[in-house]
Amino acid sequence: MGTVAGNAEPHGPVGQGIAMTTTADTAPASIAETVDRLRATFDSGRTREIEWRRRQLRGLIDLVEQNEQRLIDAMVADLGKPRFEAWLTDLLTTRDEAKFALDHLSRWVAPTRYPVPMMAKPGKAWTEPQPVGVVTVIAPWNYPVQLLLAPLVGVLAAGNCAVLKPSELVPETSRTIAELVPHHLDPEAVAVVEGGVDVTTELLDVPVDHVLFTGSTRVGKVVMAAAAKNLTPVTLELGGKSPTIVAADANLEVAARRVAWAKFLNAGQTCIAPDYVLVERSVASRFTSLVVDELATLRDEAEATSIVNADHVRRLEGLLDGHGGEELLPRKVDPSSRVLAPVVVREPDPSSPLMQEEIFGPLLPVLTVDSIDDAIAFVQARPRPLALYVFTESAETERAVLQRTIAGSVCVNHLIYQVAVPSLPFGGVGPSGIGCYHGKAGFDTFSHHKPVLRRPTKGDLKAAYPPYPQVAQKVMRRIARWPSRR
Ligand code: NAD
Repeated sequence: MGTVAGNAEPHGPVGQGIAMTTTADTAPASIAETVDRLRATFDSGRTREIEWRRRQLRGLIDLVEQNEQRLIDAMVADLGKPRFEAWLTDLLTTRDEAKFALDHLSRWVAPTRYPVPMMAKPGKAWTEPQPVGVVTVIAPWNYPVQLLLAPLVGVLAAGNCAVLKPSELVPETSRTIAELVPHHLDPEAVAVVEGGVDVTTELLDVPVDHVLFTGSTRVGKVVMAAAAKNLTPVTLELGGKSPTIVAADANLEVAARRVAWAKFLNAGQTCIAPDYVLVERSVASRFTSLVVDELATLRDEAEATSIVNADHVRRLEGLLDGHGGEELLPRKVDPSSRVLAPVVVREPDPSSPLMQEEIFGPLLPVLTVDSIDDAIAFVQARPRPLALYVFTESAETERAVLQRTIAGSVCVNHLIYQVAVPSLPFGGVGPSGIGCYHGKAGFDTFSHHKPVLRRPTKGDLKAAYPPYPQVAQKVMRRIARWPSRR
């Protein structure tokens, strides 16, 4: 059984800025008991109130803003993240997501009117968003605050309760969040369950109303199979190999600087990191030398995030064995800090593990292609990626890549920033994911848009029922041709 936080004794009105404290003498609840407690809160109806949702979103913003140093300390302890990057990529993104939801909530909760066909007139049709109930959020370790709390924004904005499961590979961050959540969010509506695979397995066994999982494609299949037993809908935010296409007409200096930054960020342990580069032959050697220079500078001058653990260092070293290409920066690993310096690999064998597995580390394969068509064919022949990047100054090339490749998201002439636009949906496609969240997409993911038709009882015509007199049949056939109206 994992540790469950959130079963705190309220020391004041829930979620009104008054701190909750976890009672030390309370025996930890089982996961099933925790979900039961959350469901009772949901059934009480209080999470449906818009003011409750606003309080939770404000609580989430306070959690991030008031505990900035604690959260950054935890991420430094777990992952050796540079402090500014921890703030930028984990805290700012989470806060912006919550602020965006707070600003747009009144519009999102409004019903949507739909036209009614003549046959169903008189009548009024609309959909109204309803929370689904209890949502489980399972997070990975690489952006441990953002990937746990940004999905929670949509969950709470939609009026649901949540069980949060941080990654066991970031114990300090997991513990810190478990401590902070009951102080800033309604402890009867949001619980944190800490633990590893055994806990996640137990959690997935308990029926809930939606599961959002962020992690590897391999574990995504385990999650979907477990959810299928209870017919629980899933949103799967998975991984994959995200390509970067560099066209001959690209601004090469900017492309090289941005690709190097995106690969170096979090030591390449970013789901939407550029996994590999496909560069057009006429500019391949210039681009490669520019990207090598940029990464060499970052190696020398910038603070690097550690690789999460020794197993992953070994995995990455393994990817460097047998790739069949040329390494353009020397291998350098500091075992004590687990910092692995970036390595560019020119022309690796496309069938090598380096080009078959998601790299998730600071290794950058660069492959030459004869044309944009060849780059598109290379992408089309592989599993659909989570992200795709293209550097070009040509609208025609941009259009061709957008139209002919399928990817979770695209950023043209930059990388990773698409995830920082709270209004844009974020998610994968095929093996890189199912469903999406962020902004309105997150609200919709955790809502049931319930269709309603209301018809008056006045003027009920007997002729509209069997045995349908001939004249009624004629009239009904005629009005069935009229267009639908509101
Ligand atoms: P992971 O799949 O190993 O673990 C994710 C979560 O699943 C953790 O909380 C872990 O406890 C749990 N888990 C692990 N094995 C399990 C099992 N057998 N049964 C049930 N639960 C299990 O992923 P990770 O190593 O933490 O993260 C790296 C992966 O996540 C990469 O593939 C990366 O691309 C992907 N990722 C995707 C996104 C996205 O938004 N699409 C974001 C970050 C990371």
